[in-house]
Amino acid sequence: MPPCLSIVIVDTLKKILGTAPKTLHEPRFQGNEHRYVRDCIDSTFVSSVGAYVDRFERELADYTGSRRAVAVVNGTAALQVAMQLAGVRSGDEVIVPTLTFVATANAVHYLGATPHFADSEMGTLGLDPVALREWLTHCSEQVAGGTRNRYTGRPIRALVPMHTFGHPCDMEGLMAVAHDYGLALVEDAAESLGSRYQGRHTGTFGKLGALSFNGNKIITTGGGGAILTQDEKLADHAKHLTTTAKQPHRWEYVHDEIGYNFRMPNLNAALGCAQLEKLPGFLVSKRHLAVAYQGAFANTPAVHLVQEPVGCESNYWLQALILDETVADQRDAILNATNEAGLMTRPAWTPMHQLAPYRHCPHAPLPVADSLVRRIINLPSSAGLV
Ligand SMILES: *Cc1c(COP(=O)(O)O)cnc(C)c1O
Repeated sequence: MPPCLSIVIVDTLKKILGTAPKTLHEPRFQGNEHRYVRDCIDSTFVSSVGAYVDRFERELADYTGSRRAVAVVNGTAALQVAMQLAGVRSGDEVIVPTLTFVATANAVHYLGATPHFADSEMGTLGLDPVALREWLTHCSEQVAGGTRNRYTGRPIRALVPMHTFGHPCDMEGLMAVAHDYGLALVEDAAESLGSRYQGRHTGTFGKLGALSFNGNKIITTGGGGAILTQDEKLADHAKHLTTTAKQPHRWEYVHDEIGYNFRMPNLNAALGCAQLEKLPGFLVSKRHLAVAYQGAFANTPAVHLVQEPVGCESNYWLQALILDETVADQRDAILNATNEAGLMTRPAWTPMHQLAPYRHCPHAPLPVADSLVRRIINLPSSAGLV
């Protein structure tokens, strides 16, 4: 009898990572983090005004090739405001993958809209444009002003692809669907800073995109996010909305719409500026780890690692092992054995359509996401592991 798969996986991981415990993903502060944060404190501008916010926004825009970037308190807020600026209103539906972190669906709900879940592709783990088109042909109708769900009667307003674990989705296919159905495209690029699709940075394809700098992302500001857009007017509006919509004035408090206090504090932006300097090194390190995992598991039957899609450059934020269907029933044994051995592994998120708050929401057939969820195991992925 061949050795049990969970033992093979633990042994293979130990060969690459050593025997000391490993977390799933941890931040790394080996650059100017202390210097910039101390400078920020010394300046007393730690909060909602300060030079690091402007600098971080400018450097993010330069790095991603986006015309503008607006820094905010977290990625969820970035998504919420991006969708609002893309035209999502109360009563609308928004197409999002069921295979995503809950923030994507929550941001839709915060706007009074309803998430409408769609299936993923095996190769990219992101929204499948072919299946989505087929589903929209079936479930929607064209009315004055756009696309309507023929079952719920609600407008389908926007399409929000998410670049899973940093692997870009099929943007060409998804942009075509968005175009043909008149849907606003907003990218959830929370996991994909540093990832490119046909040379272009993720988050810059849609009308707006959202980044996250949460503690577990490829770079962190403690907590933080950013809205990317190619449209100066939208960027100015994003800034306005996320800073309480206050009209500039020397002393009057005049707010011309209902805004949010979503601005990124200067202290967090200081950390972000230092982290951004380290991003190229993190990308190299994560690619090394991906190559090491691929080599080590090359001869392990019934498993494979997710690799960057053709024509893409993935940031390899989270490494993912995929079990063949034939061994999917061993997932929990593998999760158990690896965690017991001090090697932190995690399954994929519970898909959105199975979560209590979203169980009633409309969804396409979801065979691929349902299968992937039973088969994904995320491996230790921090920069600097190998
Ligand atoms: C992390 C993440 C977010 C939200 O980011 P926060 O900064 O934690 O609010 C949104 N979507 C996805 C897919 C994420 O992984």
